[in-house]
Amino acid sequence: MKKELYADVILPLAVKGKFTYRIPGNLSDKVSVGSIVTVRFGNKQLYSGVVSGISDESPEIEKIRDITDVPEKTPLVNQIQLKFWNWLSEYYMCSIGEVMKAAMSSGSILAERYKPKEERFIILSQKYSDSELNIILDKLEVAPKQLDILTAYLRLTDYSTGSDLYPVKNSLLLKESQALQASVNSLIRKRIFVSVDLAVSRLSEVEVNTEPLNELSDGQSQAFESLVSQFGEREIVLLHGVTSSGKTELYIRLIEEQVRKGKQVLYLLPEIALTTQLIFRLKRHFGKLTTVFHSRLSDSERMETWKKIADSEDKAGYRLVIGARSALFLPFHDLGLVIVDEEHDSSYKQHDPAPRYHARDSAIMMAALWKAKTILGSATPSVESAFNSFSGKYGYVYMGERYGRINLPEIIIANTREAYRKKQMVSHFTPQLLHTIDNALEKGEQVILFRNRRGFSSYIECSECGWVPTCTQCAVNLTYHKEINRLVCHYCGSAYHIPVKCSSCGSISLSTKGSGTEKIEDEIKIVFPKARVRRMDQDTMKNKNSFEKIISSFENGHIDILIGTQMISKGLDFENLTVVGIMNAEGLLNYPDFRANEKAFQMMSQVSGRAGRRQKHGKVIIQTSDPDSRIIKQVLNNDFKGMFETQLEERKLFNYPPYCRLVRIMVKHRDKTKLNELAAHLGNELRNTFGTRILGPEFPVISRIQNWYIKNILIKIEKEKPLARAKELINKAVERTQKIKGAGPSRINIDVDPY
Ligand code: ADP
Ligand code: ZN
Ligand code: ZN
Repeated sequence: MKKELYADVILPLAVKGKFTYRIPGNLSDKVSVGSIVTVRFGNKQLYSGVVSGISDESPEIEKIRDITDVPEKTPLVNQIQLKFWNWLSEYYMCSIGEVMKAAMSSGSILAERYKPKEERFIILSQKYSDSELNIILDKLEVAPKQLDILTAYLRLTDYSTGSDLYPVKNSLLLKESQALQASVNSLIRKRIFVSVDLAVSRLSEVEVNTEPLNELSDGQSQAFESLVSQFGEREIVLLHGVTSSGKTELYIRLIEEQVRKGKQVLYLLPEIALTTQLIFRLKRHFGKLTTVFHSRLSDSERMETWKKIADSEDKAGYRLVIGARSALFLPFHDLGLVIVDEEHDSSYKQHDPAPRYHARDSAIMMAALWKAKTILGSATPSVESAFNSFSGKYGYVYMGERYGRINLPEIIIANTREAYRKKQMVSHFTPQLLHTIDNALEKGEQVILFRNRRGFSSYIECSECGWVPTCTQCAVNLTYHKEINRLVCHYCGSAYHIPVKCSSCGSISLSTKGSGTEKIEDEIKIVFPKARVRRMDQDTMKNKNSFEKIISSFENGHIDILIGTQMISKGLDFENLTVVGIMNAEGLLNYPDFRANEKAFQMMSQVSGRAGRRQKHGKVIIQTSDPDSRIIKQVLNNDFKGMFETQLEERKLFNYPPYCRLVRIMVKHRDKTKLNELAAHLGNELRNTFGTRILGPEFPVISRIQNWYIKNILIKIEKEKPLARAKELINKAVERTQKIKGAGPSRINIDVDPY
């Protein structure tokens, strides 16, 4: 008798553990590791799951259920993906089901709904000899439209008697011949043509010419050689190149090499929406081998992308995949290289939901599974990656010069405190900034003003007692948005009417304080009434194409001054942009995060890097009330090494990464007293095991979001200690806490390497 087979199935649930099902005989040849299967779980609800293993040993369960269905013939998930999912779930302390959920949303698990899109094609009914064809053409003299169609067909397919017959899209034939469908139908009735329905790609097929590579400058060539030789010995290299040094040019060479070998490349970016220019550049070189994976794809487009990445036989399959962090989950079949561009960017970390993974670190792991190389690129590397490079774990290549020997922009610090004292400020602008903008506008050059805060004014304040309106669901001050004349909570999005009087003392003298992007826009328009001013932040970017529109109008010179949040700090390359103004730089420094200074350095250097990329006189004005701040000085001197060393020293002193690993546990409850109890319990449990390595529980800066009270516990684990063991102990403490009275409606989230 044939042996029974059992499958371990991963289900998209936050529950840990294995789920085993019997494979019924009629499905046995359809199920393999990586197959999508439909099964019943719990209350008999149907779920799609992924088979992670098959065995002929009967599991020790009383009643085992059967797999209900196998919707796809071939397995959708390969072995390396499964290994990667496993690693993610172990490292980031979540269930493999949660990883599967994240991964399959990139492929849309509704595989069974996928049907290739079909379109009507026209083809000659047989191979005609020259003389036969001449007879047909003669006969059609009386039907000139039909004649046009036939000649259009012959032209489009480059018809000659020796070659094969090609189908031509019906729509294209009509367009080329300027004829109507009725004429095509007549030719079909005369059996000259046949019509067939063929599968076509749903993905837009813009033809792009592939261009030859640019010649590298001497500095770039040296960097490239060094890169290649370091890859001989190392798996990971950090490419540290100042803004506009040509990092992308080096990536393009590396991609080319992989593509030539028939391998695939994953190009990760922090945010796909902000990179129209880069994508265009890559498509120009790699044409149809390129695909951009983003959240706006429809389910069937996703499915098709998924298949064109997975299929190793498909000659038109994708070789270069550009995407944000979720592109890590795509089913590569032969990955040779992963590029993590702007590796320092904190949007690589997923905060919610689980898996709370860091895409840079996960990319390194995935590349290792493929035995592929990883290149991390940045003008302002993260302290962690720089540490790994300088300690010899990663390779390191530096490019200190901009391409074309363009100077780095001149950076000027404008002291706002002094200017206020001397009464030289014009609204929020120092004389230095206004003077520089004025000069640029006179020469027809463009300006960017960077303000890391949305809205008109930060908040409304009672002039009598200092009361500030706050969100009723979150413990945060509300932000005033002039355009909609509302107060908005930036945490939960709730909007409120403007209060007419103070709720604390009843006074009606409420004033607006602070200076968001919207307020700066208003004020700059008053100072430069002739300038064409636009704003770019989350509020103005709600529509699908708003970003592209603003970028192209800036590029075409229809905008003189662009005001924006950190969105404008990323990757933009404008020829005529010579002045960058950074407003309230001190606001970037003062928040409680051990990475605050590092992030401020990165942000200021990145925005500065947008200035004067083609012209020799780029200028950056940093407005600050704290001109002596060490970080601002380091930005001024482009002193990455200095920043790195001082930050590292501090982290050593206070024991933060890279000197230890952090695990953060967030406990949430709608009842504050219960939260305090639970968090204290968990804190004690952990303290029993980890002693002084535990910080907290503490309320974070924002202690309540959408009516959930929050307390955090931070665990610092020494680098030398076995992480797996520590995680096991953490999990046990969490499980025990979840069992105490009142823990039911709580949420406990674990975040490994919080950012
Ligand atoms: P990065 O990625 O380091 O910011 P880019 O690769 O975007 O720098 O290069 C900056 C600009 O200089 C781009 O417009 C790019 O096209 C141009 N450039 C860089 N290197 C070369 C080269 N070798 N030949 C021609 N243009 C180059
Ligand atoms: Zn809120
Ligand atoms: Zn008041």
